[in-house]
Amino acid sequence: MVAVDKKSVLRSIPPVNDLLGDPIIIDCIESLGRETVIIHLRKILQKTKDSIIANKEHRLNLKIQDKGDLKLQIISDLVESLKIQEMRSLKKVINATGIVLHTNLGRAPLPDRAINKVAEISSGYSNLEYDLEKGKRGSRYDHLEEDLCRLTGSESAVIVNNNAAAVFLCLNTFAQGKEVIVSRGEQVEIGGSFRIPEIIQQSGCFIKEVGTTNKTHPSDYENALSDNTSILLKVHTSNYKISGFVSSVDLKDILVPAECHDIIKMEDLGSGCLSELSLLGLSHEKTPKDCLDAGADIVTFSGDKLLGGSQAGIIIGKKNLIERIKKNPLARIVRCDKMTIAAMSAVLDIYLRTENFISEIPVLEMLHKDKNQLSEAARLLEDTLNKTMENLCTTEIIDVEEEAGGGSLPGAVLEGKAVGIHVVDKSLNSIAKSLRQCKRPIICRIVNNKLLLHVRTLKKEDFPIIAEELRKVLGD
Ligand SMILES: *Cc1c(COP(=O)(O)O)cnc(C)c1O
Repeated sequence: MVAVDKKSVLRSIPPVNDLLGDPIIIDCIESLGRETVIIHLRKILQKTKDSIIANKEHRLNLKIQDKGDLKLQIISDLVESLKIQEMRSLKKVINATGIVLHTNLGRAPLPDRAINKVAEISSGYSNLEYDLEKGKRGSRYDHLEEDLCRLTGSESAVIVNNNAAAVFLCLNTFAQGKEVIVSRGEQVEIGGSFRIPEIIQQSGCFIKEVGTTNKTHPSDYENALSDNTSILLKVHTSNYKISGFVSSVDLKDILVPAECHDIIKMEDLGSGCLSELSLLGLSHEKTPKDCLDAGADIVTFSGDKLLGGSQAGIIIGKKNLIERIKKNPLARIVRCDKMTIAAMSAVLDIYLRTENFISEIPVLEMLHKDKNQLSEAARLLEDTLNKTMENLCTTEIIDVEEEAGGGSLPGAVLEGKAVGIHVVDKSLNSIAKSLRQCKRPIICRIVNNKLLLHVRTLKKEDFPIIAEELRKVLGD
């Protein structure tokens, strides 16, 4: 009895060609191309067959009498499958979370000038590794070194793919087979599985932990020195802050005996802030220059955190050490590409040669927004929403606390403004989901039964888009 049912259900699966004539599928083909649609359709048909054979047709059970129902089910599965693929493709989103350096949303948006420079350099040939003066091979590291040195007071500098690679490369260059001394209070994990102890091991070094979670003293490092010590490593605890009975060590306070002159003091600063944050109304954040002044021989930091550039790892420090890093064969493996170098060259140029660099670097501009600017933006967003939405929801302007994100400025609270949206008869989670799935996805937060749109990370051009999408979602 069951077997007969199965066969008849299997027979009622419409053939591919039949399905391809359906108006909904024709629409899909028009926007996504025939090949993509057919690949997805074949998968759906196979899945449907498999589930019928495996007796999992309970989903279809009620409908098997009707061929039309099975066809509708297949088409709706296909549309869903194409929608999921379309959502996975890389696209611009609207960040309404207020978190400026949102790691999941691509961290630092680039300045216009950097975008133009990337387009200019990558659309044709460039002197990336060509010395125009001598007419022979040059180095991709040359383009940024001088500006990096000017901005940080360093003797020398090199740039690699990201800061994790920078740390790895330094450890591998100087301490392979040797010991790296690091405080127990600095054994941190940075998002996305970058863990200091693991990086030390993977780079071929041995970790020697000193001190305790909350307190480490210069003598802890000094007592741990041995013939096999190669690096004293300090790590910025980027994404948390311990308070209370704590102390950590400045590299300059660690006394290294003269006979250990080749021990390297290294600092992984994480977020490399090149500007004075008090200009932004924030408290001072240790800069790469501060680290050098405090006795570091080598400092590493990210290009796309507080610096506001592209993903990159920047290594600054003593010239002889940077030369050794450049010669490590692994440098070739973690080198950055021309688009990164183009973007960073424009960003460093803004720092050095633009009077009002804060307004040109989006990360700094967003962190710099003051209460008046944020209030004004919130009012404008609220107005736009109310005009578009009429009575679909009620709105209010709310004071919110924000963080910089991306492992920068731990513990610092930024005062922000958000437009809060109340809805009576719909689930906020499903509204947030629909907003994530619209053409220009909108990422927002839900707090205390309100949907929050933080204005710090929004542009005025985003407001009408948000209003229109919200109207569609709420009016459904
Ligand atoms: C962010 C961070 C890293 C990793 O930097 P990426 O540029 O993301 O690779 C390493 N160390 C510290 C202390 C950080 O804050």
